[in-house]
Amino acid sequence: MITFENVSKRYPDGTEAVAGLSLEAPDAAITVLVGPSGCGKTTTLRMTNRLVEPSGGRILVDGADIRERPVAQLRRGIGYVIQHAGLFPHRTVAENIATVPRLLGKDRRAARKRSLELMELVGLETVLADRYPHQLSGGQQQRVGVARALAADPAILLMDEPFSAVDPIVRKSLQEQFLQIQAEVGKTILFVTHDIDEAIRIGDRIAVLREGGHLAQFAAPRELLEK
Ligand code: ADP
Ligand code: ADP
Repeated sequence: MITFENVSKRYPDGTEAVAGLSLEAPDAAITVLVGPSGCGKTTTLRMTNRLVEPSGGRILVDGADIRERPVAQLRRGIGYVIQHAGLFPHRTVAENIATVPRLLGKDRRAARKRSLELMELVGLETVLADRYPHQLSGGQQQRVGVARALAADPAILLMDEPFSAVDPIVRKSLQEQFLQIQAEVGKTILFVTHDIDEAIRIGDRIAVLREGGHLAQFAAPRELLEK
């Protein structure tokens, strides 16, 4: 479980990105942060893997303050997926996915085997394994990004608008397949989107943020639909 306790972030230029955010993201569930551009969603995600340090409050993972562990150890347990996949352009699909297993000492063969398994999990044909990212469609690149984030089998996944850069039809199929993957892997997920329909479709819990990083609502999708 990820717990935000009165977390705030003020950037050095004075911007109040997040203000007194308190919420709990339960295990094996997708908690969606939704709200307009600039409401502090990305800042909140990046505080969770310590790419951004909060100005106040605490973030706990399974009850322990994330500042109590070395950053590298924290990040090993957290996969991160961003909007434009952020793949390494000069590495093949299989090599991109295997990056973390290789860093963790897996030999080349075992890492490749794991890459191919993950490609199947995210719905990528394994014939694409030796292609380079620029030879893939946007939707395929995002699938590689998801596979890469899952490669170290992290307990937590942070996903920042992972499906926003692809067209609506591809987006829908990515969302549906992602729900199937989650049913299998059961990660603790923080998922950022500005799209309320996407939030309702995939979220188990939805945190609605407003300008200045204020939490306006924290509810199940059904409760949001009833309002
Ligand atoms: P969202 O993900 O909801 O679009 P962000 O977390 O990216 O929101 O940004 C929240 C606010 O903080 C915005 O006003 C943004 O301009 C500002 N912001 C983000 N990063 C920085 C930074 N490094 N320095 C100053 N202001 C920033
Ligand atoms: P999507 O349905 O994900 O939007 P696209 O229409 O972008 O797919 O691409 C359709 C097919 O064309 C995909 O199978 C992809 O692998 C292939 N493709 C796209 N761009 C390239 C490229 N630059 N080189 C080789 N194949 C490509």
